[in-house]
Amino acid sequence: MIDGKEKKDKPVRALCMLSGGLDSQLAICVLRDQGIEVEAVVFDSPFFETGAAIKAAKALGVKLHIEDLTDEILELLKDPPHGFGKCMNPCIDCHARMMQRCHEMLAEIDASFIATGEVLSQRPMSQNRQSLSVVAKESGCADIVLRPLSAKLLDPTKPEIDGLVDRERLLGLSGRGRKPQFELAKKFGIIDYPSPAGGCRLTEPNFSQRLAELIKYDGMEVRDIELLRIGRHFRLKDDVKLIVGRNAKDNAQLEAVALKDDIILTVDDIPGPIALLPARASEEDVKISAEICARYCDSVPDEYVKIRIVKSGGTEYLKVFPKSQVEIETVRV
Ligand code: SF4
Repeated sequence: MIDGKEKKDKPVRALCMLSGGLDSQLAICVLRDQGIEVEAVVFDSPFFETGAAIKAAKALGVKLHIEDLTDEILELLKDPPHGFGKCMNPCIDCHARMMQRCHEMLAEIDASFIATGEVLSQRPMSQNRQSLSVVAKESGCADIVLRPLSAKLLDPTKPEIDGLVDRERLLGLSGRGRKPQFELAKKFGIIDYPSPAGGCRLTEPNFSQRLAELIKYDGMEVRDIELLRIGRHFRLKDDVKLIVGRNAKDNAQLEAVALKDDIILTVDDIPGPIALLPARASEEDVKISAEICARYCDSVPDEYVKIRIVKSGGTEYLKVFPKSQVEIETVRV
């Protein structure tokens, strides 16, 4: 129960969504500046990382809850009621699910309202006035979602009306400019924050294209989604995809995530990639994959390359001629 008495009897507590970016850190600082206790929450899934939030929470000294949103976001990707943004980002519905989850958490942590670092009109799809209101309504907690950085430009929320939050000490920021945020960062001593664009892979065109292709052919297994971040991808058949490492980091990751029955291609004597094929790949798929791998080896031009093939049945070698770049492009995802 929220009422003015709560402020006098016990500390007011809020749950703030923390991405780790500057705006969400500032939202926490603005609330704490008026004596409100804040706990933070970050959502985890194959599409967004929690690292920046963990780092920010540590720097701010705020308790952080990490909530897994994988099932909800995978379900949303099938047919988001409010559609996608420019890429595969169902921002309005995704955000509403996050708010719903926050709403459920309020009682657990004895908090009275939800706060976010959203700034009005900063992002075209998810942070215009209509979207903010749709998100709040869809989540069923419209009156207890406070945006401390833009609150003065929005209708007063219940915690403001009830006197738990001093509206006068909230801000009226809007738009894409970052100068006021940088000044506030100095005031609150925030020195470490990632760029505002980073964070969610669903907003990245290349990742979204790979994801759409994956959903079309393979469905939405979490491991397959995580593999989308690694290497070059080639669709050899409807049910066979080859992944070829681009660098030492990709190669190490591919080796680490390979399943017992996966087929691994690599070279012994010259620098070259590690590549991964599913166990169901045919002999012909393996040969084509070896030819693609050969193209990315540091081999002598126009010479055969010896590719090592490691399968569950043992290791064998194939001497292949590198596929031409033109041929490779016909199967590249
Ligand atoms: S950017 Fe990604 S995490 Fe954020 S609301 Fe959109 S889909 Fe969800």
